[in-house]
Amino acid sequence: MQEKLDQLLALLKGARHAIALTGAGVSTLSGIPDFRSANGLYSQDWHGMSVEEILSIDVFRAHPEYFYGMKIFVQPEGKYQPNVVHTVLARMEEKHLMGTVFTQNIDRLHTLAGSKDVVELHGSASTNHCLKCGAAYPFAQIVETACQGNVPRCPKCGGVIKPDIVFYGENLDENALDRADEETRRCDLMLVLGTSLVVQPAASLPFMAARHGAKLVIVNAQPTPLDSYAALRFTDLKAVFEFLDKNI
Ligand code: ZN
Repeated sequence: MQEKLDQLLALLKGARHAIALTGAGVSTLSGIPDFRSANGLYSQDWHGMSVEEILSIDVFRAHPEYFYGMKIFVQPEGKYQPNVVHTVLARMEEKHLMGTVFTQNIDRLHTLAGSKDVVELHGSASTNHCLKCGAAYPFAQIVETACQGNVPRCPKCGGVIKPDIVFYGENLDENALDRADEETRRCDLMLVLGTSLVVQPAASLPFMAARHGAKLVIVNAQPTPLDSYAALRFTDLKAVFEFLDKNI
């Protein structure tokens, strides 16, 4: 392990342009449930539906009260705190050792930890929109209603306000995909952290980076389809970042 950790440090310090992709495993270190894992929320039933169904845009339009009633996806500021992965990535950015952090997480913890260059592939509740008239609302304006489990409504037209989280059946933000395309071509090192690389299109980003010659470092408890492409492979995210915390 120590030898591999030293190799990781050398890779990071020698990289011309490093980027990162983070997934649910990073959030679970902050105590946020992993809703894609086998024991995660998808195995629970709500209104006779899986969480995956509740997170589909058609169900949201018909029953926004299911989504808000779960009180899981919109959380008050401060309920969850950034962990060592978030804080070390932010410090690496400050020291010009890390470029863009792409995340599949919707919890905004990278931003809260101080990372500036964050691309939220699946969006977040930082911004919210009325489904009827399109009016935009910042997080602060919906948080109270949403965190009580109620459906926030547009003061202008009474329409349902939806967080700018990418629901199933919705397309990912084009700007985010363009950035991903650009950065995976440009980087020479990509850290893949806490994701099993099964959800597209994020899962294809490390593959694209590798195809363009970047080295991959994969840190994930479970196997991933790209393990054989990895220059370094770790399973313990916390241990790796506690090491980096002391050495970067
Ligand atoms: Zn409206």
